[in-house]
Amino acid sequence: MRRVLPLAVLSSLSLALPVLAAEPAAVIAIRAGRLLDVAAEKVRENVVVVVEAGRIREIGTSVPAGATLVDLSGQTLLPGLIDAHTHVLLQGDATSAEYDAQLMGESLPYRTLRATRAMKIALDHGFTTLRDIGNEGAGFADVDLKRAVERGVVEGPRLFVATKALAPTGAYPIQTGAWELSLPRGVEMCDGPDGCRRAVRDQISRGANWIKVYADRSYYKMPDGGIRSLPNFTVEELTAIVDQAHRTRVKVAAHSITPSGHAVALAAGVDSIEHGDVLDDATLQGMASKRVYWCPTLTVMDYVAGPRSKTNPIWGELQQAARDSFKKALAAGVPIVMGTDAGGFPWDEINQAEELKRYVALGMTPWQALKSATVTAAEMLGKAGTLGTIAPGAAADLVATREDPLKDITATERVSFVMKAGVVVKR
Ligand SMILES: [Zn+2]
Repeated sequence: MRRVLPLAVLSSLSLALPVLAAEPAAVIAIRAGRLLDVAAEKVRENVVVVVEAGRIREIGTSVPAGATLVDLSGQTLLPGLIDAHTHVLLQGDATSAEYDAQLMGESLPYRTLRATRAMKIALDHGFTTLRDIGNEGAGFADVDLKRAVERGVVEGPRLFVATKALAPTGAYPIQTGAWELSLPRGVEMCDGPDGCRRAVRDQISRGANWIKVYADRSYYKMPDGGIRSLPNFTVEELTAIVDQAHRTRVKVAAHSITPSGHAVALAAGVDSIEHGDVLDDATLQGMASKRVYWCPTLTVMDYVAGPRSKTNPIWGELQQAARDSFKKALAAGVPIVMGTDAGGFPWDEINQAEELKRYVALGMTPWQALKSATVTAAEMLGKAGTLGTIAPGAAADLVATREDPLKDITATERVSFVMKAGVVVKR
C-alpha cells in the first residue's frame, strides 16, 4: 500500500530545504594563436574562445573579467575530433582467433573495463565524440558506457551507440562445427521483415542511437577481376529495418564491402556505408545523389590486410580497391566521414588520427580531411552546429596542436590539449 504524505507535511518539507545561493558560473577563456574555422576553411589568429557551462559562449579577442585563462598562444585550436566508426568493446581482431578469444575468453564486465580504457585513450588523442557502431556480443554494455560517461562515472568521449548490430541467421561469427554448443554471437540475428522490425524496436527501446546492419559477407573475385560478396539481408528485410529505424528518427549504418551489398543497402535507404572498399560507379552515383555518408576505415584495412591475406588473398585486393575507391568517391562528391574501425585494431597501438594522413595521401586537402572528422561527421550524426565546430552555442569540445595540421596533417596525432564539454581533460 502506498503511503501518502499529508499536505501539511509536504509544505513543511519544502520550507526546510535550504535556499541555494546562485553560484557564479565558471568561465574559461582560451587564448589561441590560431583557430581553424573548418567549415569556412579559414584561419583566425590571436583569438579568445570563451567557454561557459560546457558550451562556447563567444569568440573574441579579450579575456572577460573573472575568467580562468588557458593560454595556448603558440598553438592551433581546432574542434574536438569525431571518429564515426569504432568498437570500444573490442581490442583488435586481425584474425578470427583474436576475435573468438575476446568473445569466449573474456567476461562482459572485463570487456567493459577494457572499454573504459579504450575510451580514455581516444579522449586523450583528441576524440571527443565516437559513433560506436556495434559492440560485438556485449549485449547493451555500450549503453551503460554512454550513461557512465554522461554521469561522470568514467571519463570518455560522448558516445553514439548501436548496441548489438543485426545480421540474418547464420551470417556472422562465432560459427563452429561443434553444433551442440551454444556460442556467443557478435550480432543479433533477425530474419524476415517482421522479425527484423522487432529487433530494431528492441534495440532502440534499450538505448540504441543508431542501427548497424551487416549487409554482406564472404568476399570473392569474379572471372572479370571484379570483387563481389554474398548479400546478407533481402531488400524486403533491410527496407523494413530502415523504415522501422527512421520512424523513430534513428539512422542506419550498413557494413558493406562490395556492390553486392551496396545495391541492397542503397535500395533500402541506409544512411551510411561502412568500409565500402569496392565502390562501383552505380554506388558512387547513388551515394552522392542521396547524400549517403561513407566511412572508409582505411586504418583497419592496413592493419588486417596482411594477417588476413595469409589465409585469403582477397584481403590484399580489397586493400588496393579501397584506395582506388577513395579517389573515385572524392571526385564523385560522396560525403566522406572519418571512421577508423578502432577496436578492429588495438586502441593502445594505433592512434585513430592516423586515418587522416591516409585521406591526405589519397588526395584530400588537409581542410577536407579535417572536415571529415568534424563538420561532415557532425552533420551525419544530426549535430551540425553543436559538434565538430568552434562557434557560439556549440559544445566546448576543443583540441590544440603545437604544429600546424594544415602543413602536416599528422599534427593531429600529437594533440597537446583536449577539452570536452568545457572540461579540460588533457593539457
Ligand atoms: Zn567495424
